[in-house]
Amino acid sequence: MTQDNNWLTRIRPEIGALETSGIVEVFDYGRRVQGLIPLWVGEGDSPTPAFIAQAAKASIDRGETFYTYQAGVPELRAAISAYMGAHYGARLPPERFFVTIGGMHALDLAVKMTVGPGEEAIVLAPAWPNFAGALASNGARTVFVELDAGTTWRLDPARLEAAITPLTRAILFNSPANPTGYVASREEIVAVLEIARRHGLWIIADEIYGRLVYGAARAPSFHDVMEPDDKILFVQTLSKNWAMTGWRIGWLEAPPELGGVIENLIQYSTSGVPAPTQRAATVAIAEGEAFVAQTVARLKLCRDLMVEGLLATGRVEMAIPEGAFYLFPKIRGEPDTRKLAFRLIDEVGVGVAPGFAFGPGGEGRLRLCFASAPERVAEATRRLAAWLTR
Ligand code: PLP
Repeated sequence: MTQDNNWLTRIRPEIGALETSGIVEVFDYGRRVQGLIPLWVGEGDSPTPAFIAQAAKASIDRGETFYTYQAGVPELRAAISAYMGAHYGARLPPERFFVTIGGMHALDLAVKMTVGPGEEAIVLAPAWPNFAGALASNGARTVFVELDAGTTWRLDPARLEAAITPLTRAILFNSPANPTGYVASREEIVAVLEIARRHGLWIIADEIYGRLVYGAARAPSFHDVMEPDDKILFVQTLSKNWAMTGWRIGWLEAPPELGGVIENLIQYSTSGVPAPTQRAATVAIAEGEAFVAQTVARLKLCRDLMVEGLLATGRVEMAIPEGAFYLFPKIRGEPDTRKLAFRLIDEVGVGVAPGFAFGPGGEGRLRLCFASAPERVAEATRRLAAWLTR
């Protein structure tokens, strides 16, 4: 009976010590509030288009209920290869693409392959909390390098290089970025690649928001500047472009020579992605361009109306996001955004993600996801603006 009954002390300490995302606490508090407009998570309110869902239903009806290819069904890998060719102008064979359980699983596999326990990876901050979470759950340490805030977010490559230590193994580079909307310029990408080459580091390029940009067909990518032997792994997902967050499907892009290793990692973690989900993804990628275009147009409308409504209050400062679907404003006179997020639930009926959850440079800010229907984004903006100017 005297045995320690704290279960957290019985498991590996670094796993017991994993931090809960600061977004979850606010979400748990507000999720059941009637009439609340949720802007806290990174997804919209559009259901997956019917033509995509239909492909999964047909797959189930055909009896595709068995184990399937570890790396993904050949048709999906071919569709990804064609898609990358069309949008990134790169001739990338299907063997470079490994289908995963969402972008999160691709990120975890990329970390597992490159950053070991006790080693370090660089992450640009403010940052999506799951980057540090993925590193910590693999026993690795996050070294944050802050972006410069201004009318746009910018990277100082010299600051990034100065953060490298003998333990650094990878640069986890997210552009377009969650939560800042930072979109790295081609020059910044070249600078990061040169730093990685000089120091022999891996780049884990999270380009999941690459198509969700305002003013260009896509964001600059490492694909534009890399050589075949550069050590780069790409994290991608179906979640955002095709409204498929709940399907849990994405891909890791890696040199085909690592195929055997990646298939082993998939075998020993998820043992593959359900075939019906892969059929839906194949159709999304091959036939979903009109939906992506429509999504970007709607996002731009929502971004603009929220930016305008909040700036008019005179209470916020922010860079207008060039990509992804979040505003990340600083609220004047509200330094404690954890407290503020709770108050906005109770007093305004809007759910936001508190800035402290995004690491250095995040406190004092709120992350607002504008991926909902324009009427809802407009109503949330009205509520927030009224409260800020009360
Ligand atoms: N990378 C970034 C920057 C994200 O914001 C997200 C989700 O919000 C992901 C990766 C992972 O997406 P998922 O696991 O839903 O595919």
